[in-house]
Amino acid sequence: MGVPCSQCGREYDVALFPFGRTLHCTCGNRVGLAPRVRDLGADPPRFMADAMLGRLARWLRILGFDTAWEAHIADGELVRRAVEEHRVILTRDRALPGEWRVSGVVVVASEEPLVQLRDIVERFDLARQARLFTRCSRCNTPLEAASKAEARGSVPPRVWNAQTQFRRCPGCARFYWSGSHTDRMRRVVDGVLDSADGRDEIFLDS
Ligand SMILES: [Zn+2]
Ligand SMILES: [Zn+2]
Repeated sequence: MGVPCSQCGREYDVALFPFGRTLHCTCGNRVGLAPRVRDLGADPPRFMADAMLGRLARWLRILGFDTAWEAHIADGELVRRAVEEHRVILTRDRALPGEWRVSGVVVVASEEPLVQLRDIVERFDLARQARLFTRCSRCNTPLEAASKAEARGSVPPRVWNAQTQFRRCPGCARFYWSGSHTDRMRRVVDGVLDSADGRDEIFLDS
């Protein structure tokens, strides 16, 4: 089956357009299949952040949202993985929505991670669904409870002595605990959630 260029009529093999990819025809026109509406039914949504959005990805994970991110990933791989795993694509690349005809692409406008976070929290109404510190900020794996005995030797002695509750990442074996750094993160997150739409209603209702 051929995909015709709308300008010159030249036909291209359909296999050239995986995952909504487009290409430039020899006449200069962009050729591609009609955009496919993807099933992004997951609630809360899952995300795939591009290489520019590593800090946003970490914040989304801290809030508990499943957010894939890799430092070095080609656009084609990014889109393929997002399509296969039903993830919303978060990108700083304004050209991406033209080059790839897939639904569920958000071009993030700001360069500032916390402004980006507020934008995404508002857009997807995430404030009510946040589950702070339930996911590894480094590798995105959901955390598991770990006993004090299990944490011994894996956390600094002063932390082990002071804390009774730990969590462990089954993906990268990192341990997590409550402390001044999590208090700071919580304050930052509270600031972002408070300024995002919808937060006020939630607290008035409860
Ligand atoms: Zn053409
Ligand atoms: Zn991890």
